[in-house]
Amino acid sequence: MQPHDQEYDLPPEAAAWRARAAAFAQNVLAPVAREADRAGRFSRDVVRQLGQAGLIGAALPASAGGGAASALAACAIAEEIGAVDGSTRGFLAVQAGLVLAPLVAHAPAALRDHWAPRLTSGEAIGACALTEPEAGSDLGAMRTTIRPDGDDVVIDGEKVWITNGGVADVLLVFGQTDPTRKTRGLECYLVAADTPGLERQPMPGRELGHRASDHARLVFRGLRVPKAQRVGPALGGMGVAMLGLEDGRLNVAAGAVGVHRACLEASIQFARTRRQFGQRIGDFQQVGATLASMDVALRASRLLVHQAARLKDRGLDNGHAVSAAKLHATEAALAAATQAIQLHGSRGYSDELPLERHWRDVMALTIYEGTSNIQRVILARMLLGRDEPPEGSEA
Ligand SMILES: Cc1cc2nc3c(=O)[nH]c(=O)nc-3n(C[C@H](O)[C@H](O)[C@H](O)COP(=O)(O)OP(=O)(O)OC[C@H]3O[C@@H](n4cnc5c(N)ncnc54)[C@H](O)[C@@H]3O)c2cc1C
Repeated sequence: MQPHDQEYDLPPEAAAWRARAAAFAQNVLAPVAREADRAGRFSRDVVRQLGQAGLIGAALPASAGGGAASALAACAIAEEIGAVDGSTRGFLAVQAGLVLAPLVAHAPAALRDHWAPRLTSGEAIGACALTEPEAGSDLGAMRTTIRPDGDDVVIDGEKVWITNGGVADVLLVFGQTDPTRKTRGLECYLVAADTPGLERQPMPGRELGHRASDHARLVFRGLRVPKAQRVGPALGGMGVAMLGLEDGRLNVAAGAVGVHRACLEASIQFARTRRQFGQRIGDFQQVGATLASMDVALRASRLLVHQAARLKDRGLDNGHAVSAAKLHATEAALAAATQAIQLHGSRGYSDELPLERHWRDVMALTIYEGTSNIQRVILARMLLGRDEPPEGSEA
């Protein structure tokens, strides 16, 4: 048991999910994660095994074939997977958070009943297509058009950086119906990947991290989808995106806690055993102080993540808590990965140890599902509220 293990303070339900995910991470992911990263290989086999272990659908309601796990349990799962393999944790955030959560809650029943069991079992793969070359943080700037035509809509445009985009069997595609309405003009449609009019290419360039993930550029040319395949008409496209992103962001934050923990545990172990100048390096004050700072930051991150999850489990609004957790946990994990490499000296610089992979992977966690700056924008808006000019002012 690690020093902070007893302080997880998880109820039995979440502790059981955590143990299941930890066993999966150790038995299935740990033996292959480095080779998958080196080869840049996405594995459908790992996806199927995730499904068989019940980890993809863990947080879905039992009525949708899910495990009815609490949000706290879902965070514990993300922490365990994230501690071992960032690419698989990233896959899970997309498949479970960005795709399955909105699909189960807001897709037409026939489509939900067709796709949810396949996605949950890992037989099918899903992707969520929001980002465009000119619309990253600013979703209202989307240029992909959605034009009604009889019983169909026609989609034209381009998406980039879509996780699972090249391997997905089904995609949630977002586009604009009226550019003057910005985010209020967005709509979301469920698109089977074999629909004519969809081209997919790998992203050009080699990614810094998440190398065992699939990231694609998607081009839609006159792609025709029945209007009946619209997801969440009552919510609007932005509402569907936000529903997925709030789940996904919490998963990202919990995954960052996993990376942070892995970096701290490796650093403690190394600082206990590595000797220089006749003593354990951990007994040098500067090294001990680094470990102490990493430990406190980890505790703060996990508390923020668990607070956001507990609010969700109580049915309370957790938007503020999720943004705070994502901002703190991802930035702290990036700092911890840097400190861990430094503390391991030259060993940390090689992929013999997983630390450099954690550092490369965790950088992306500060970017996707809302960059750190965007989390600050959200938090500042929540703190300040709307500007209500004093009576009589001209503003
Ligand atoms: C590994 C990976 C996986 C991804 N997977 C997906 C996916 O599955 N689906 C998908 O749709 N997208 C995906 N993305 C894209 C990701 O969501 C975007 O990269 C992200 O939203 C940021 O958009 P951008 O890269 O265009 O940066 P920009 O929005 O152009 O931002 C550039 C910089 O400007 C800052 N900035 C922007 N606006 C503001 C503001 N208002 N205030 C202060 N600073 C601001 C940002 O913080 C950032 O530092 C993925 C990206 C990566 C790296």
